[in-house]
Amino acid sequence: MARTENDAAAARRLVRLDNDYLWHPFTAMRQWRGGDDDAGRVIVAGEGFYLIDARGRRYIDGFSSLWCNVHGHRVERIDSAVRHQLEKIAHSSLLGHASPPSIALAERLVRITPEGLTKVFYSDSGSTAVEIALKMAFGYWRNVGRGREKFLAVRHGYHGDTLGSVSVGGIDTFHKVFSPLLFDATLVDSPNSYVNPAGADAAGVVLDQVDSALAAAPGEYCAVIMEPLIQAAGGMLTHPPGFLAGMRDITTRHDVLLIVDEVATGFCRTGRLFACEHEDVQPDLMCLGKGLSGGYLPVAATLATTDIFDAFCAEGKTFYHGHTFTGNALGCAAAVASVDLILESGLLDTLAAKVERIHTALAELADHPHVAEVRQCGMMVGIGLVRDRATGEAFDPARQAGAAVCRAALARGVITRPLGAVVVLMPAPAMDGETLEKLLTATVETINEYFRLNAI
Ligand code: PLP
Repeated sequence: MARTENDAAAARRLVRLDNDYLWHPFTAMRQWRGGDDDAGRVIVAGEGFYLIDARGRRYIDGFSSLWCNVHGHRVERIDSAVRHQLEKIAHSSLLGHASPPSIALAERLVRITPEGLTKVFYSDSGSTAVEIALKMAFGYWRNVGRGREKFLAVRHGYHGDTLGSVSVGGIDTFHKVFSPLLFDATLVDSPNSYVNPAGADAAGVVLDQVDSALAAAPGEYCAVIMEPLIQAAGGMLTHPPGFLAGMRDITTRHDVLLIVDEVATGFCRTGRLFACEHEDVQPDLMCLGKGLSGGYLPVAATLATTDIFDAFCAEGKTFYHGHTFTGNALGCAAAVASVDLILESGLLDTLAAKVERIHTALAELADHPHVAEVRQCGMMVGIGLVRDRATGEAFDPARQAGAAVCRAALARGVITRPLGAVVVLMPAPAMDGETLEKLLTATVETINEYFRLNAI
C-alpha cells in the first residue's frame, strides 16, 4: 500500500478510537463524533510552527496550540533540557523537598516579573494558578487579622474552570450553569468599547464602577482580579490604554489586593514579556501558565509580594494548598529553557515588527461586510464576525460562523480555534516572518472566500 493510503487507514482507525473513548474539553461531543474524519483531527507531530496530522498533512499552528506555544514545536534547546532532566528524575514532590529546576525557575520568574513579586507558588494550569491567588488573597486578610470575603471581577472575563476561578469568571455560556456551586463575586462591566454601551468612554465608566463598589464596602474586598489589556476567552476584548493602571490606582487607594491574571498574556503575547509592563503596573499577585513552559508542559505559577508571603510565615500559619505535581521537574526544566531562550534569543526585539505586520495585513478586513472588528493586542487577535456589519446584527449562534470559517481555514493549511463568532489568531511569538505571512494571507483569503461562497 502507498504511504498515503497507510496514513489514511491509520487516521481513520485513530478517529474511530477517538470517537469510542475520548471526551474532549469544551467540545459538543455529539457534533464532534459526527464530524469529518478527514479534518486534521489527529495531530501526530509538530515541527517548528507547523502541526502534522495523522495523514501527514502540515498546518500552520495559528493558535499556538491553545495560546501556549512560544518558540515553536520541537525546539532543540527545550527538548534537550527535558531529556537532560529525564536522565536525572522526572518528578519529585515539592511537599517536604525541593528540586534544582523548580528553584532555578522561581529565581528567574522573580527576576523577570514586575518588581515587588518575590515568591513563586507552582501549580499545573492557569485555573489552579488563579485558584491559588484567590485563596492567598483570602488567607492574607485572615492572617493579618482583618478577614474579608468579597472579590471583584470584570464581566466577559475568563480565569479558568475550577470552581473558584469560575466564580470570578464573567462568560455566561461557560459559567452560568455552575452558578449554584459558586461564591458570589461583584462583576463590573468590561471596558471594551465594542461590548460596553459607553463606547469610547467605557474605561472611565468602569473605573467609576470599581471605585464605587470598593467604596461602598470598605474593608470587605479581598481582591480585584482582572486580565490585563485584553480579555482573551471573552472574545479578544481589548481594553483602552490606562485601564490597567487605573485599576491599580483604585485598588491601592482602597487597600484592596490586585490579582493580575497573565495566564494568556504572559511570555511575549502582548508584544512585551508581560502585559503589566505596558502600564508599569506592579500587582500584588500574578498568575502565569500557558507560555510559561514555552507551551511544552503543564506548569503554572502564582507570584506574590513579600507582604503576602510574610502573612503566611507568622507562627502557626500555613498556606494549605498544593498538588501532587506542583513544581514538576520536567516541566520546570522546560520552563527554565524557554525563559532563557526568550531572554537570550532577542525574541522580544522582534515583536514590534510582527505586531505591526499583523495589523497591516488584517487591515484588509476592516471594511468586510461580515467583519465587525479586528481586535489586536500584540500577537493576540480576534476577528469578530457579524451577519450585518452596518447594523451590527450578530450571527445566529446555531450557525457557528466562527467554527465554519476555521474549518475552511484547514483547507488552506491553517489550524485555529474560534471563540463563538470570533476567529482567533495567535501565532507563536517566535514565528518566523515567512510563516506569519502565510498565516495572515490564508486567514484573509479564507474569510473572503467563505463569505463569497456561502449565502448568509
Ligand atoms: N486565565 C486566563 C486569562 C486564560 O485565558 C485561561 C485559559 O484560557 C486560564 C486562566 C485558564 O488556564 P488553563 O486552561 O490552563 O486552566
